Amino acid sequence: MMNRKDFLKTGFAAGVFLGSSAHTPALVGDQREAGDAGQDLEKYRFHPHHRFSNDELVIEREQAGRPHEGKILAAIQPHSDDIPIFAGGLVAKLIHEGYKGYLIRTTNDDAAGHGTTRAESILNDERDTQAVAKALGLEKVYDLYYRNHNLHEVNMQEITARFVFLIRMLKIDTIITYDPWAPYDNNPDHYITGRAVEAAYTGRWDYPEQLEVVEPHSISERYYFTRRGPQYINRIVEITSHVDTKVRANMANVTQGPGGNSGSLLRRRLAEKGLKLPILGDDDEAADFNYIKHIMLDLDSEQLRLTPSDKHVGEPFGLEWAERYYYRGPVPSKLDDYIKKTAVRI
Ligand SMILES: [Zn+2]
Repeated sequence: MMNRKDFLKTGFAAGVFLGSSAHTPALVGDQREAGDAGQDLEKYRFHPHHRFSNDELVIEREQAGRPHEGKILAAIQPHSDDIPIFAGGLVAKLIHEGYKGYLIRTTNDDAAGHGTTRAESILNDERDTQAVAKALGLEKVYDLYYRNHNLHEVNMQEITARFVFLIRMLKIDTIITYDPWAPYDNNPDHYITGRAVEAAYTGRWDYPEQLEVVEPHSISERYYFTRRGPQYINRIVEITSHVDTKVRANMANVTQGPGGNSGSLLRRRLAEKGLKLPILGDDDEAADFNYIKHIMLDLDSEQLRLTPSDKHVGEPFGLEWAERYYYRGPVPSKLDDYIKKTAVRI
């Protein structure tokens, strides 16, 4: 195990299983190692039994230029607020670095948001989702339109087949969605969406009749975003240059919040009592922006979006703003190298 200084230089350390507001045990304090943290459960909420020993914690830094040119991503969410809340920074970063992207929403959010009728709140959520996609620089929204909080009544194979088709049609290389195996998520829309995507990942040759109109295509990279509670994490993504875009995406989510116009509403409530919070600024637009950036993504993050502050996530790694993920990517083959080194002429 390398010490903290070496880690910051190379950007690698041991993989960890983090709970709510946990700091990375391998890095907090001077040269603390993951093994030591197991003796300090209260502080780190970390248990060595949950550690995967063969994985490394990777810091994905911001990159210059467009290294991902030609690649396609799909940001997949059950509800209009999920991607902006948990992965708005990563999506903005990858689009900035050359990806072309799509937003896929599995439900119609009919049980969430505001409207004088159910149909009106569905329309509001749909419009917000379009605005979120625009704020993040995504090309298009695909709404699968299943009923909100009822995804567990839908045949899994039907959802999976729709994902297999979308992966093939859009030639998706990378997906960003809920961790299908995260424990303690009470929302069926979250885990069913994650598991349907996971099943679609496996189905390169499934549904062969589709192949008369689309080519076979496989996802090669998966980013699963993380919430509070025990969840495996092996990647910290730097979002410092993209946090304002993440804020704008959350401002677009008016009907459901927790961003939207919450800042200007709070500003008004306080003004009625003759109070103001200087951090919110002096007009509604500034209040909405600053509320999301400083309160929702930082100060009151655990309460408002059930995940630690993006500032706290970055802190141990010297990053101003960061998000955390469980990342699954291609496993490099050692065979080519072995052949090059050891093959002999017949
Ligand atoms: Zn959700």
